[in-house]
Amino acid sequence: MLLSDKYPFLTNYFEKGINNKLNNKGIPIAHSLLFWGRDLESQYIMAKEIARLLNCTGDHSDNCQCLNCRWIRENQHPAVLTISRLDNKPADDDTKTVISIKQSEMIKNSLMTTSEFYRVFIFCDKDDEGNIKGLNPQNFQEETANSMLKIIEEPNDRIMFIFLTSNKEDIISTIISRSQCFNISGGERDNFNFELIKNTFENYWNFERQDTFDIAQNLFELSKETTPTKLLEEIQNYMLATLKSNPNNTMFIEHIKEVETAKKQIELGMNTQNVFENLCLKLIK
Ligand SMILES: [Zn+2]
Repeated sequence: MLLSDKYPFLTNYFEKGINNKLNNKGIPIAHSLLFWGRDLESQYIMAKEIARLLNCTGDHSDNCQCLNCRWIRENQHPAVLTISRLDNKPADDDTKTVISIKQSEMIKNSLMTTSEFYRVFIFCDKDDEGNIKGLNPQNFQEETANSMLKIIEEPNDRIMFIFLTSNKEDIISTIISRSQCFNISGGERDNFNFELIKNTFENYWNFERQDTFDIAQNLFELSKETTPTKLLEEIQNYMLATLKSNPNNTMFIEHIKEVETAKKQIELGMNTQNVFENLCLKLIK
């Protein structure tokens, strides 16, 4: 099954975001991503696909045969590295159970030189058969994670970090807070409908600033008919549908990201009404 069939929303989001980025129409995708959920293999494929789109010098199609695309598919690309307890260890590193401080140092050193490529570091675990597994506090320990924070924080247009895990709780909060998080669990949302928000939210880019709090209140009321997270997903579905018919309008990619932030705030237990208000303040100008 193609990744785009299994995860249409996310593949679309990254494809659009990356194409816009490469066309210098703004950089809507964060340079630290965290994928979480049960489907680790798909997370890894998605991470490699992002790396491929960023480095492709061909036509960006699924079966592009440019050198970068071929290298990345074959795990041979010098700038797209899987970082696990088994992969890409410096010669003097004899750790076998963890991603080590030495690996973190190696990455930091490599970033001091420039590269013609877009560098992508995919952090994950593997079992002895080579199956992709998730990061957890044992294989990606606090000290190592913290040693990465500075380079994750530093904005650099040509570097991306992608962390893979089953449970978000297994990743140290300082990484979570610096990353854009996406659920890849094998059960992507059931559909792409936006029936519930349609009447309230259609053509929201024409809304008047003065109505922001009323609109937030309406969304808050609507969220009681489902869950705040599901309502926010409907808003994203609507934005994605609109983006599809206006592929060059990067505003929608930015907005999808804002809604993702709102989902994160709900997960963290922030007051629902405040979350909707903050979101509407960002969306309605
Ligand atoms: Zn290519």
